[in-house]
Amino acid sequence: MQKIIIIKYAELSTKKDNINFFIKTLKTNIEYILKDLDVILSYDRGRMFIETAKIDEVCKRLKKVFGIQKFVIGYKLDSNSFEDIKSNILKILNNCKFSTFKVETKRSYKEYPLNSMEISKKMGAHILKNINNIKVDVHKPDILLEIEIRKNESLIYYEEIEGIKGYPVSTLGKGLLMLSGGIDSPVAFYLACKRGVKIEAIYFDSPPHTSIEAKNKVLNLAKILAEYNLDVKIHIIKFTEIQEAIYKNINHDYLITIMRRMMYRISEKIARKNNCKIIINGESIGQVASQTLTSMSVINEVVNIPVIRPVACLDKNEIIEIAKKIGTYETSILPYEDCCTIFVPTHPVINPDLNLAREYEKLIDFEKLINKAVKNEEIIKININSENNNYEDIL
Ligand code: ATP
Ligand code: MG
Repeated sequence: MQKIIIIKYAELSTKKDNINFFIKTLKTNIEYILKDLDVILSYDRGRMFIETAKIDEVCKRLKKVFGIQKFVIGYKLDSNSFEDIKSNILKILNNCKFSTFKVETKRSYKEYPLNSMEISKKMGAHILKNINNIKVDVHKPDILLEIEIRKNESLIYYEEIEGIKGYPVSTLGKGLLMLSGGIDSPVAFYLACKRGVKIEAIYFDSPPHTSIEAKNKVLNLAKILAEYNLDVKIHIIKFTEIQEAIYKNINHDYLITIMRRMMYRISEKIARKNNCKIIINGESIGQVASQTLTSMSVINEVVNIPVIRPVACLDKNEIIEIAKKIGTYETSILPYEDCCTIFVPTHPVINPDLNLAREYEKLIDFEKLINKAVKNEEIIKININSENNNYEDIL
């Protein structure tokens, strides 16, 4: 008898023609996160199977893989004989505490001498006879014991673990996420990643106005998020010169509006250069002056690429709840300033005027500054396998 993990796919049933591509991508992703462990992986259109001696470690990692509806830890017998199943099922239940149970059987091997109902019934009676103080409950059992009869083998399982669902990362192509050190953008990262988007991140750094700690905080967030995304490429853009030019030349009420228009322009260029089909960010409607509907439309106007805002319609508390669940919250609340907080004007405009924004921008040769910033980007790649993590070197 050998332990085995059986993975059920999430939401892939809607994919029809693409289903093989989705399953193969999920397989590649799982192989990638388990590459340092000894595992045997196989799959069919309905499920994936993993055999390994490191069950606990594999389960821990699978909990962060998108595309998994749920997985069960089961037992594989190299026999489908009823007598073998009978004796092994008691061993399996030996360590399990329960007062009610139900047996369900599936047969992919149809020539088996007993039908599914007969197997369930007989096995139920066998369990009742051998374990004290338990009864059958067909409606709400403590454990649902499932038996699968296959051609030369059988599977027995009852322990089900919820997966994080979504689509396998990379099945929907790439997106560029604007990653700040705050609470919202890491959550936006997670949510876009959940829909199968492979994320690259962009961070606007303004040394010396922002510290190395602020940058490291972003890299630490990326490291946490890399576990969902498999790894993360981060584009670090030196934003100092642009911010100083804005600060010196432009009406301070419009500082944030213009600054964000610059961030969007640079993001679009980096996205196109790296085959990212969308920009993603952590904007949330109404949260701050730059996120009123008018502000968003004046800022969005400078790009011609879809901008997806996964947390746009969530309350801050809802965003915080997700941040805690995915493990980014504690890092996000560390008190390092970022480039937005440093140049915050006293009266940021809530309803910016598009023509005025365009007029202000004429005061500076932004195209030149933007191209320079794009050209001088620094790229850091964070791998989930921390031994190869070149980001560790720079800390
Ligand atoms: P967060 O939204 O991540 O909690 P925040 O609320 O401080 O941080 P905002 O000023 O609300 O950030 O900015 C809105 C969005 O713009 C962020 O969610 C993020 O996607 C993007 N952004 C802001 N600052 C930066 C930056 N320095 N680098 C990259 N993206 C940024
Ligand atoms: Mg925010």
